[in-house]
Amino acid sequence: MPKDEYILEESYDPQSRFDDMEGVEPEFWKKKSLEEMSKREWELLCDGCGKCCLNKIEIKGRIHFTNTYCRFLDTKSCLCKIYDCRFKKINDCRDINLSAIREKPRWLPKTCAYILLDEGKDLPSWHPLKTGKAVSVHESGQSLKNRKLINESEVEDYENYIVEWPDL
Ligand code: SF4
Ligand code: SF4
Repeated sequence: MPKDEYILEESYDPQSRFDDMEGVEPEFWKKKSLEEMSKREWELLCDGCGKCCLNKIEIKGRIHFTNTYCRFLDTKSCLCKIYDCRFKKINDCRDINLSAIREKPRWLPKTCAYILLDEGKDLPSWHPLKTGKAVSVHESGQSLKNRKLINESEVEDYENYIVEWPDL
């Protein structure tokens, strides 16, 4: 499949998730457990870093991240090009739910908001829920934006692309 068959909808503005917070309890993530969160709160927790869309390999019980990415990731925005139908199109695209978050070995990055909260930590200062700006995940250098990345369609052996970035 040509890698650019899907193009991100230009009309989608990531900031729209954080612009209208009417009805959202301030700092809800400090007051509720992950189990208690509404769907909207759950979705707001995602910082949009894109790091869960890196390909990973498991070696001797440990997950290793690579700098190769799912071909449906838009690396400029770090958004999925097929978000609404991702589970139909990609067999190994995982829903970020409680069991995924708690799976061992951990396959989500250590900066992932769901991982942090499940470990009893606060959200980081750069999280869009704290800054009010979706772009803060990029400005802080915490997303995949501007990193050296390889489209999975160009990769033969993932073991050659293992990275040890401190935020993974
Ligand atoms: S790693 Fe976590 S916070 Fe980042 S995009 Fe994936 S689900 Fe969202
Ligand atoms: S299909 Fe899944 S893994 Fe691929 S970019 Fe979309 S959300 Fe990420």
